[in-house]
Amino acid sequence: MENELSKKDIDNLFILRRVSSEAVMDVLGKCPVVNLNKGEVLLRAGQSNQSLYLILSGRLAIFLEYPGSDPVAILDQGETVGELSVIDDNPASAYVVGVEESRVLEVDETAFWRMISESHSFACNMLLLLSDRMRSSDEALLKNIHLRKRFQRDAMVDSLTGMHNRRWLDIQLPRLIDRHIRSERPLCVIMFDVDHFKKFNDSYGHDAGDDVLALVARTTLMGLRPTDLSARFGGEEFVVMLAGISTDLAWIVAERLRRHINSEHIITDDGRELPPVTISLGIAECRVGDSADSLLKRADTAMYRAKETGRNRTCREE
Ligand code: GH3
Ligand code: MG
Ligand code: MG
Repeated sequence: MENELSKKDIDNLFILRRVSSEAVMDVLGKCPVVNLNKGEVLLRAGQSNQSLYLILSGRLAIFLEYPGSDPVAILDQGETVGELSVIDDNPASAYVVGVEESRVLEVDETAFWRMISESHSFACNMLLLLSDRMRSSDEALLKNIHLRKRFQRDAMVDSLTGMHNRRWLDIQLPRLIDRHIRSERPLCVIMFDVDHFKKFNDSYGHDAGDDVLALVARTTLMGLRPTDLSARFGGEEFVVMLAGISTDLAWIVAERLRRHINSEHIITDDGRELPPVTISLGIAECRVGDSADSLLKRADTAMYRAKETGRNRTCREE
């Protein structure tokens, strides 16, 4: 062999398992051996690559983002890299870097296709390698989907409005009630719901409905003190928690919020102005023995009284 590949080098390579063809050995014997230092880059993501590399010794790391980021895989002696670009002629999809001093055999595309046509075993090994790559990428994809689902489940922020969500409220409100009991300062909850919100969706489309919710959230956040807390309770329902504030003051806050939201102009992407948004609000003040549920329930009852008595108004608990 011109490149002095040893029998051990060849025996170690998965891709050459059961390959006995003289022609293949002849092709391999003419391929150059590349010596790679530790940290040296063999392939770059996005750059064209016309060769398959067989790792004769050492180890190579695969990075998707940049060399030195978290490696997605470490390839050992006997493994192969670069086959996808050779087959589909697309640029390399990752960085390939020497983990330590390594020796790789560079098989260019002419040599590669020649070996495929000369050896059935080589072609079968290549298919096995590709199916293995597909399975690992399916597994990575599945892991990603599971992770995304977990992040969504654990998230405390509503992605549409940027407000805290129900999950966060379920954790924060009991804490606030505990603190209220210890401090003996008042604590009020305002619950409000957009009036006839379904009409926005039905008349202007779901995206316009989303714009309304985003605006309601923005106006709410802007109109509160930094110490006041608010959350999207679900759908078009929101909750505001006012620590240190009793019902009379909470009523003023609620009415101010209602007026601010009502005076906003919303223009849809296609330039139409939406009708003014009105909300109905209910206020409840924390009492001895209240839980988060009982307090929210009373605010909800007050809010429904606001709906029943004409909407676009604030009601206190009875
Ligand atoms: P009411 O004055 O009695 O509150 O009437 P409403 O139309 O506001 O109430 P209803 O409960 O009948 O309708 C609420 C609608 O809100 C139904 C649902 O499709 C819509 N909705 C819930 N979440 C979202 C969302 O994130 N985006 C949009 N665009 N619509 C939503
Ligand atoms: Mg509504
Ligand atoms: Mg509702």
